[in-house]
Amino acid sequence: MNLRLRRNHLKLLKEEARKVHPIEACGIFFGRTSLTKAVVEKVVLAPNILRSSTRFEMNPETVVNAILESEKKGLHFIGLFHSHPAPATPSLVDVKFMKLWGDAIWLILSSTDDKIAAFQIKDGKLEEVTIEVK
Ligand SMILES: [Zn+2]
Repeated sequence: MNLRLRRNHLKLLKEEARKVHPIEACGIFFGRTSLTKAVVEKVVLAPNILRSSTRFEMNPETVVNAILESEKKGLHFIGLFHSHPAPATPSLVDVKFMKLWGDAIWLILSSTDDKIAAFQIKDGKLEEVTIEVK
């Protein structure tokens, strides 16, 4: 799987992560998807209601509204974004939740070294997703 992000999306995510550090930033992204590629067209940031530096949770109403609004514009749900004040690798809790989110792509940004990585559960296994920034 290949995730394509625009440079300004990445800038937005980095700014948000820096702003709320060491709390985890979070959000959702939407766009066009095919079997092998997901192209991000829209990023919706949401407050981390847990205000935690190891966990995140978004207000479910914010998530549902963002999904409904995007679908009206023909944009599909691609996945979730969150930051770590630690390396950009999924925590055990992340993996547990990833399994509940089906084939959603999880983009993790480290707010300590600005590195990004993306992951997806495929056939019950954690797989890394290639990120392309254009
Ligand atoms: Zn995490």
